[in-house]
Amino acid sequence: MIQVTKTYLPDFDTYVSFLKKAWDRAWITNHGPLVIELEEKLKEKLSIPNFLYTSNGTVVLQMALKVYGITKEVVTTPFSYVATTNAILWENCTPVFADILPTSLCIDPDSIERKITENTQAILATHVYGYPCDVDKIETLANKYNLKVIYDAAHAFGAEYKGKSLLSFGDISTCSFHATKIFHTVEGGCIVANDTEVYEKLKLMRSFGHIGDDYYCLGINAKNSEFHAAMGLSIFPDIENIIAKRKFIIEHYKTKLSSTHITFPQSELPFKSNYAYFPVLFNDENTLLKIRKALMNADVNTRRYFYPSLNNLPYIDEPVSCPNSDELSKRVLCLPLYYDLELDQIDNISAIINSTLM
Ligand SMILES: *Cc1c(COP(=O)(O)O)cnc(C)c1O
Repeated sequence: MIQVTKTYLPDFDTYVSFLKKAWDRAWITNHGPLVIELEEKLKEKLSIPNFLYTSNGTVVLQMALKVYGITKEVVTTPFSYVATTNAILWENCTPVFADILPTSLCIDPDSIERKITENTQAILATHVYGYPCDVDKIETLANKYNLKVIYDAAHAFGAEYKGKSLLSFGDISTCSFHATKIFHTVEGGCIVANDTEVYEKLKLMRSFGHIGDDYYCLGINAKNSEFHAAMGLSIFPDIENIIAKRKFIIEHYKTKLSSTHITFPQSELPFKSNYAYFPVLFNDENTLLKIRKALMNADVNTRRYFYPSLNNLPYIDEPVSCPNSDELSKRVLCLPLYYDLELDQIDNISAIINSTLM
């Protein structure tokens, strides 16, 4: 079976050598030396000083809303992983769905503006597949209406816009280092705040809101362990190699997928891709289902990522329609993409797709 993704694992002995350090110290969590070392390396790599390594990429979305005291409406994208919407609902805020751009599948700034009311407090947008949201237009809106901007940058590790990591935009950006993501620590994530006071508060919130006997604010447990950091430190030296390999795979796919019935999401903005996913758009849902079945019969798994459009989740109180997202979520399929996917496997997958579309 070819899976749609496969976790990148480092050299086993390298991982064990990091574990051994934690073992010898008998210090396996609570801001241990490995967590601190990983955090420093990532800060430097991304050129982001206000960076916090955390337990996952969902709790940080909740912390982002919490740290600004957001309690009302949050304009958000319907085209993302469910965690984006869940975080808003979990924090008892109201998600207000703006539509997406048919090109990049990221949130449409004009649609955001139409959804802003007197109750809007924040914008929570996702850099889908590592493609940048229109961060400049969104910043202009945020300034005009006095809103906080939070980016779910779970897909964006390694992607750059204007020569800077995508994680450096907005008031706060979050990322996920889950095992399926481009850089991972088994489970893990991070949160970045541009304002240093906010960063300091998030740092307290990550660890129950207190330091020793001094209690400062409401907090939660969002810290990560030495074992997780050990995985990150083992993979860290391979990051550029992982991204380059994925670029090579996607370029190979594109030379093989010859059918004119296929298109790919496209960004209007100049950016440096991290090749995190390989999304393909078909003409309609029936074609997608046919392709998916043909691939499944050949033991190739694909993922409807993202479907359904989040405005259609069963626990949304007042469903709204987002025509672009409703439509595109039915037509997009992510094809297998991982470090050691082989060229002849890509050739096979492409041949099945080409012949099914004929
Ligand atoms: C993976 C993902 C998350 C959640 O990250 P976890 O680390 O699994 O909690 C949130 N948003 C998006 C867009 C994701 O892809």
